[in-house]
Amino acid sequence: MDGIEMTRRRFIDAGGTAAAVSLAAIAAPAAALAQASGGVRPTGQLMPDGVKLPSTLPVRKRADSVGIAVVGLGGYALNQMMPRFAQTERTHIAAIVSGSRDKLRRVGDAYGIPPDARYSYDTFGKIASDDRVDAIYIVLPTGLHAEWVIRAFAAGKHVLCEKPMALSSADCARMIAAGRRANRKLMIAYRSHFEPYNLEAMKLMGQRAIGDIRLVRTEQSYRMAPTSPSENWRTNRALAGGGSLEDYGIYGLQSALYLKGEMPESISATAFRPPNDPRFTEIFAHVSSQWRFPSGAVAQLVTSYDSASTNFAQVRGTAGALIMDPATSYAGQKMRLEGRDERELTSGDPSVQFARQLDHFADAVRDNIPIRTPGEMGLRDLRLIEAIYASAETGRTVRLAPDGRMRG
Ligand code: NAD
Repeated sequence: MDGIEMTRRRFIDAGGTAAAVSLAAIAAPAAALAQASGGVRPTGQLMPDGVKLPSTLPVRKRADSVGIAVVGLGGYALNQMMPRFAQTERTHIAAIVSGSRDKLRRVGDAYGIPPDARYSYDTFGKIASDDRVDAIYIVLPTGLHAEWVIRAFAAGKHVLCEKPMALSSADCARMIAAGRRANRKLMIAYRSHFEPYNLEAMKLMGQRAIGDIRLVRTEQSYRMAPTSPSENWRTNRALAGGGSLEDYGIYGLQSALYLKGEMPESISATAFRPPNDPRFTEIFAHVSSQWRFPSGAVAQLVTSYDSASTNFAQVRGTAGALIMDPATSYAGQKMRLEGRDERELTSGDPSVQFARQLDHFADAVRDNIPIRTPGEMGLRDLRLIEAIYASAETGRTVRLAPDGRMRG
């Protein structure tokens, strides 16, 4: 390996994909999780938009549990993440923040959040003196992440921020700097780093289970219903950037990196926006990019908001292939090894990824363990996204430094 390759490898590892934290360490809460999964069942009252709220109040399991304020009570927070706190060992919802009084009341009542721990965006500043809140979880539209992460650090709290970290590498750098100034933790909610199939895939690739990796292919696509930028933030450039690449294709970008274990040295890309479609007046319908790695391997990443659903990753080496389809969903993962060691893999229950992610964050806050998905990883990914768009815009191949910055 030459110096640059070594640096690229280290940069990937610094992002946390290598074994900085042992697999055994994160597998430990599995039994507890399985037992606890019945803690809160969302069978209670219905919100106006059809979200089911829990009918029983979650129980705080440990005295050193990290109290988290959830900022943004949208689909992902209400449907996926908030019910998962009951499955964690070391986190609890200490406060909620929303622009809707009705949501604050209904969600607060369902989760047993005291009325004085229900904040609006206007009263958010008061959270600084709320000792029940150790950390803030930002689940807002992406274009708002930077502002609210920086506000959370200004309030002296640790931060868990949804993916993608932000819409520009400059914003990512500001967020990291704010965390350092406040001497608080910053973790990006890349849940696949806590999901058993993806963890096993990383391990297998590290063990050279398919020989030398030559090809990586990923695709994350679905067909978005008719909508427009004023109706849906995911089609609004100021809140969503270029669209599906930041929102969904980022899973393919991430898996290309953690499966290959190498940063690309160049990227060429195409992005397409069909005329006269209100969904795509501000964002792209499809983005396709080709990557070349210093080892000679190549990758092809495709993402779309206008084609039938798929979510797969394939890695092809000199002695076989790894096929993950679906690769990074909430549940239902399938994974197959082809070649000399052909077999289906059943690596565990993918639904543990949400609670394990929260517990990892809590361990970082309480025990100061290194964060597997730190802000630096989010920054690295935004640099690659910027390189993809730069190539799509200019029609030129973009060359990259080992940390993902564009050269020249
Ligand atoms: P959503 O549209 O369902 O919810 C967004 C919430 O933000 C709503 O409650 C909305 O009221 C609030 N909001 C505050 N200011 C707003 C504004 N100016 N415009 C629009 N909404 C505003 O979105 P979501 O699917 O919950 O996504 C939120 C974040 O979570 C995004 O960053 C997204 O990428 C991330 N996410 C992650 C995953 C994952 O698997 N990790 C899955 C879905 C979403």
